[in-house]
Amino acid sequence: MDHSSPTLLPPAAAREFGFFVDGAWHGGRPLFERASPGHGVPVSLLAKCTAEDLNLAVAAARRAFEDRRWAGLSGAARGAVLLRAAEILRRRRDEIAYWEVLENGKPISQARGEIDHCIACFEVGAGAARLLHGDSYNSLGDGLFGMVLREPIGVVGLITPWNFPFLILCERVPFILASGCTMVVKPSEVTSATTLILAEVLAEAGLPDGVYNVVTGSGRTIGQALSEHPDVDMLSFTGSTAVGRSCVHAAADSNFKKLGLELGGKNPIIVFADSDLEDAADAAAFGISFNTGQCCVSSSRLIVERSIAAEFEAALAAKMAKIRVGDPLDPATQVGAITTTAQNEVILGYIARGQAEGARLLAGGGALDLGRGHYIAPTLFSGVTPQMAIARDEIFGPVLCSMPFDTVEQAVALANDTVYGLAASVWTKNIDKALTVTRRVRAGRFWVNCMMAGGPEMPLGGFKQSGWGREAGTYGVEEYTQVKSVHVELGKRTHWIG
Ligand code: NDP
Repeated sequence: MDHSSPTLLPPAAAREFGFFVDGAWHGGRPLFERASPGHGVPVSLLAKCTAEDLNLAVAAARRAFEDRRWAGLSGAARGAVLLRAAEILRRRRDEIAYWEVLENGKPISQARGEIDHCIACFEVGAGAARLLHGDSYNSLGDGLFGMVLREPIGVVGLITPWNFPFLILCERVPFILASGCTMVVKPSEVTSATTLILAEVLAEAGLPDGVYNVVTGSGRTIGQALSEHPDVDMLSFTGSTAVGRSCVHAAADSNFKKLGLELGGKNPIIVFADSDLEDAADAAAFGISFNTGQCCVSSSRLIVERSIAAEFEAALAAKMAKIRVGDPLDPATQVGAITTTAQNEVILGYIARGQAEGARLLAGGGALDLGRGHYIAPTLFSGVTPQMAIARDEIFGPVLCSMPFDTVEQAVALANDTVYGLAASVWTKNIDKALTVTRRVRAGRFWVNCMMAGGPEMPLGGFKQSGWGREAGTYGVEEYTQVKSVHVELGKRTHWIG
């Protein structure tokens, strides 16, 4: 199939994928059938791996770590593999984007842009592999020299969600590999295809066997077992705060594995009257509708200066009504399908709840009938109070709540009135306000007069209940290392025993 064709269709038959352990493909397990959320037809068949399969994968990753076939290479050699992987991804970009659309329901044009970002992640990871270094202390006196070594932490378990199956994977894998670690990945059962395709890419790029292993299956079985596994040194989990909490318990009850957690968000976009209101409205529409709002950094709380609130909400509602929601394989589509039936019900439930709580609907407000799949119109609620469930809970859908403010202090207080702290955006042409808000709102990623901007050089992660640790960039590589303090005595020892 020509995956770059402007008229793509779902495949005629579902593709069966095996799972990948120790450099080889395995099969023969019961299969899970995944249907395309945009089209309702079966597209992939994924292995339901067993606990024994997981044990074999962890054992392969352990062997590959301990014999130093990867950690023992120079950063330059590891970087070369990552650069070759970037080249292969460039070649297979449209094919991987097609599989993201089939399993996730996101628009093809967006998916292609995401693969470009993934290629950049591998390129940045390649550079980071070469630049990773420790520290030294030349300040301990003439008799002692101190070095701080960074060492890869070991075998990493990686559990990824269904909203950005390949992008979230690639914001982690190159950086984990740059550190010298080996890994076992468990993608979401509903979006496993591209994680398996990455195994083909990395093998072709020359990654040694056993360094990247993939087991598939449900979160409740394989995911839980990976989080509890006593021979996994670190677990990177991205998904709901509830499962993140269960990973903390699993780590405590097994081997105290280190955790990296990227969890939920209820992210504010703060709009001051002195901002470029056209730009801010466009960003607000994008921030809540991108990826159908199934995005941990979606800007789902609009905090808008009261003097312009009504005018701004009207302009925003008009923009949201123009968003092209449709078949994810159509290159003109801006917003595709909701990824799972369960998530569709959650979002529609919150829209009904918002209306029942007394919020005023200014745009969208329900499902769109396109004949197949689940689609929801980008939705804007006005007159929202901070106590309403739609203002507090992560909806993970295209539902934006608008709340007014009068002073900078009120804007900051509203923005911080959440258990989450993943991302935030502020819109103003006044540098004092922009920097005051940036410094006082507790969030791991901040956008000043922009929305979801950035690249894999910059670290990702949350404050408060949005998680622990940072992914991507040099911070992301360091996260997968531990430091060892080395003390070297120079000259003759001062004896303890006279
Ligand atoms: P989950 O947290 O259940 O899923 C995320 C990942 O964890 C998937 O790979 C899933 O596997 C796996 N998983 C599920 N249960 C366990 C477990 N007990 N132990 C280890 N891994 C597990 O999210 P949901 O799919 O249920 O989505 C629910 C909500 O979570 C959303 O509405 C949204 O609010 C939030 N969410 C946030 C994300 C983010 O990027 N921060 C991403 C996804 C969801 P499998 O899918 O195969 O069951």
